[in-house]
Amino acid sequence: MDKCSFCNRKRSEVNLLISGLSGFICDECSARAYDIIKEEKLIEKETDKFDFSKVKLKKPVEIKEFLDQYVIGQEHAKKVLSVAVYNHYKRLSVQNIDDDEIEIDKSNIIMVGETGTGKTLLAKTIAKMLHVPFTIVDATVLTEAGYVGEDIESLLTRLLQAADYNLEKAEQGIVFIDEIDKIARKNDNPSITRDVSGEGVQQGLLKLLEGSVVNVPPQGGRKHPEQKLIPVNTKNILFIAGGAFDGIEKKIARRLNTQVVGFDKTDKEKIDEENFLQYVAPQDLKSFGLIPEIIGRMPVITHLNPLDKKALRAILTEPKNSIIKQYTKLFKIDNIDLHINDNVLEYIVDKAVEYKIGARGLRSICEVIMTDAMFELPSKKVRKFTVDLKYAKSKLEKANIKKMKVA
Ligand code: ADP
Repeated sequence: MDKCSFCNRKRSEVNLLISGLSGFICDECSARAYDIIKEEKLIEKETDKFDFSKVKLKKPVEIKEFLDQYVIGQEHAKKVLSVAVYNHYKRLSVQNIDDDEIEIDKSNIIMVGETGTGKTLLAKTIAKMLHVPFTIVDATVLTEAGYVGEDIESLLTRLLQAADYNLEKAEQGIVFIDEIDKIARKNDNPSITRDVSGEGVQQGLLKLLEGSVVNVPPQGGRKHPEQKLIPVNTKNILFIAGGAFDGIEKKIARRLNTQVVGFDKTDKEKIDEENFLQYVAPQDLKSFGLIPEIIGRMPVITHLNPLDKKALRAILTEPKNSIIKQYTKLFKIDNIDLHINDNVLEYIVDKAVEYKIGARGLRSICEVIMTDAMFELPSKKVRKFTVDLKYAKSKLEKANIKKMKVA
């Protein structure tokens, strides 16, 4: 009778039995074998030396110029990130070379800014340019060990995967933690009962930020007893966190107002009340609910500005792979010259603002306007297609775009 040569189960007991010249293997045993091979490969790769001093160091100005090609505005964030990434490279490249005993600390970064203003885009663009492994993880899926969700160590699993299981490379990588604000403590006062949702995760995260050796399950998910764990040293991993920190403006405003009590009003610097985020400081993050230890380990704080109409208009056409450039390319493949009138672009921006869907909504609006043309034109003998205001309005009104409106 046919049965798996490894686990002895019969064909009827398994999903799939693969036959070889002199035996069989079932689906489960082959999956297990694959895992073992992968883990072995990892050990092999540990000895694969990665020489950082050979990587050409881009200067901060060059890094920013690169970011400028893809991200509109956000000058402060770009500058801060460029310096942090440059320093990250520098400290990696001088390691084990200098013996002056001066160790450069790493500068993990927190970016504060409304959703859809470019935090992830900045992180992704940096990744594009770098020679180090990079991964994006969502803080909301992380939980303390023992609760439903992913163990905190799993973010290092992703980095290992991004490094193709080259441990040495992974240990020099960058992790972008999105939605860090969602693991904030619910109130400023440490509670007697433990706050499972936020503080526990922050404590777990702290261990990674501090730079320690963490045992990581190579396949991610929950740790289980028979799984082999990979010790990953986080000392040189750069962490960049981003979050919207909804409502933090009020805390910033309150702090700024109390600070000026007793001072002559004319003395104080004029505060731009339209954009409080630009004044964000560590104590605001603390009052939002990040524990001081986390803030201490993420010493670089930067903000992203809300996008105004001018910025949204620029996002449509200016970035290297802007939405409009992408449509133009799509039509070009069918030999059709696409032209979109300026007032159409303004109309798209107006609608994105009116429906409060920001930069992320620009693409959805464009899709609604362009879908019919993208459906019909490739089968017609058309060489040129111009989108005018009348056409755009008719498509958008027909599609009942109001459904997209954020209440
Ligand atoms: P978040 O701040 O929530 O991480 P994202 O970076 O994901 O926002 O932005 C969503 C999308 O909006 C991006 O993929 C990009 O297309 C567009 N976008 C947002 N901000 C900018 C910007 N400053 N420059 C260019 N495109 C932007």
